[in-house]
Amino acid sequence: MSERIEADVCVIGAGSGGLTVAAGASQLGMKPVLVERGKMGGDCLNYGCVPSKALLAAAKRVRAARDNAEFGLGDVPPTVVFAAVMRHVHGVIAAIAPQDSVERFTGLGVRVIHASARFAGPREVVAGDHLIRARRIVIATGSSPTVPPIPGLADIPYLTNETVFDNTVLPDHLIIIGGGPIGLEMAQAHRLLGARVSVLEAATVLAKDDPELAALLVERLRADGIEIAEGIRIHRVERVPEGVAVVIEDRAGERRLVGSHLLVATGRRANLDGLDLDKAGIATDARGGLVVDRRLRTSNRRIYAVGDASGGPQFTHVAGYHAGIVIRNALFRLPAKVDYRALPWVTYTDPELAQAGMTEAEAMRAHPGDVQVLRWPFHENDRAQAEHETHGLVKVLARRNGRVLGASILGAHAGELIHSWCLALSGGLKLATVAGFIAPYPTLGEASKRAAGSFFTPKLFNDRTRRLLRLLAKLG
Ligand SMILES: Cc1cc2nc3c(=O)[nH]c(=O)nc-3n(C[C@H](O)[C@H](O)[C@H](O)COP(=O)(O)OP(=O)(O)OC[C@H]3O[C@@H](n4cnc5c(N)ncnc54)[C@H](O)[C@@H]3O)c2cc1C
Repeated sequence: MSERIEADVCVIGAGSGGLTVAAGASQLGMKPVLVERGKMGGDCLNYGCVPSKALLAAAKRVRAARDNAEFGLGDVPPTVVFAAVMRHVHGVIAAIAPQDSVERFTGLGVRVIHASARFAGPREVVAGDHLIRARRIVIATGSSPTVPPIPGLADIPYLTNETVFDNTVLPDHLIIIGGGPIGLEMAQAHRLLGARVSVLEAATVLAKDDPELAALLVERLRADGIEIAEGIRIHRVERVPEGVAVVIEDRAGERRLVGSHLLVATGRRANLDGLDLDKAGIATDARGGLVVDRRLRTSNRRIYAVGDASGGPQFTHVAGYHAGIVIRNALFRLPAKVDYRALPWVTYTDPELAQAGMTEAEAMRAHPGDVQVLRWPFHENDRAQAEHETHGLVKVLARRNGRVLGASILGAHAGELIHSWCLALSGGLKLATVAGFIAPYPTLGEASKRAAGSFFTPKLFNDRTRRLLRLLAKLG
């Protein structure tokens, strides 16, 4: 070992979670060490949220141009230069990268080590030539794409989120295995940019989302020309002169789908291999995942886990939220615990699909007989009409006392519109507050206010209120 380092905190992994812990610790005057084996910024910046949203942004421009005729404008579709689109994607990564760079974090007082880390003891981490002894250690190693055991897959070239943004040739026919958010975002981006796209899903697409809204989104994706096959079995994949053949079976029987490119987007698995967790006395569950409590402590109480590595919901905002919990626990010794009741997530297709808190099914299970479902369709929203963005609705779940349990939104800018429901959920607000403020007109956000207001409509026009109004009329 060429160097022994004593640190307050050692963070393994410089993605969304690890960077936030390291920055927070240094701002509190600690001496953090941050170990990263790959690119600073982790998955979100390099292979995840940022490139996927940049690619979708380009694709949405094609859709906007295609819809020009609706606005009385010429509808000449733009020429897609796929390699240039990918240059735009990498330009966006490059514009954000300085925020997550070694230079910035060194400037903040973080010691950054570029190496692969593993445990050497309950308080020790080895990273390259360094032995780091730290009072607290945070596992922030993220996740990697899982690859299903499909016969033939190991013998053919396929894309994952780690390689798809380096592909500069527009696929002639992109076959995507996996109909979750990543699969569908990539499907729509490639379709709008001109590829033929087929999505193969063993179960149901967007299974974690509200089925009513997910079905409306699927309708729209199919209208874009994306072939979506659910409930299928993949028997094998084969290399063919055109690219790849996928042999699938659905209700109609066995068939063969030939594509130029194959993208595997079938879920993600925590990066724990090679960490030598046993040397630090860190327990794992039957599936090899970390066992963490609500304070995000592993079975070694000095070692925490955040973000995708922790086994919780896999989102950048969750990794950042986890970092805050760990900073409070490890550095301030406050017993902060994770609470996912107001957890939001968004699929950034066009239209976007956003969720906060409980879905309808979860609400029904948690509060049987005490759930009211409120809806407001975007075709009744004046701004949506003006912008020809009427596909979708706001759906709200609330208890009979008006307490908000969850909200699902399908529509343009749903990822922005869900914020007011995140606020309602985290603040424990009732529908009266969401319905009662003055909203600017005409805005898409009015749909949320109207959905909340619809809770009171039956009460306003019930027999008791009518009698009261008749009485007041007689009196006055
Ligand atoms: C295509 C795609 C799109 C996505 N879009 C969104 C989105 O729109 N919104 C959203 O909220 N989330 C999105 N996500 C999820 C999001 O990217 C992750 O939830 C987030 O990056 C998790 O952050 P993290 O810090 O846990 O891990 P990561 O960002 O993956 O960082 C972990 C880091 O640890 C390093 N590492 C691993 N093992 C070691 C080791 N032994 N030693 C040293 N370093 C190590 C890795 O190299 C990596 O840099 C998307 C993911 C993908 C794949």
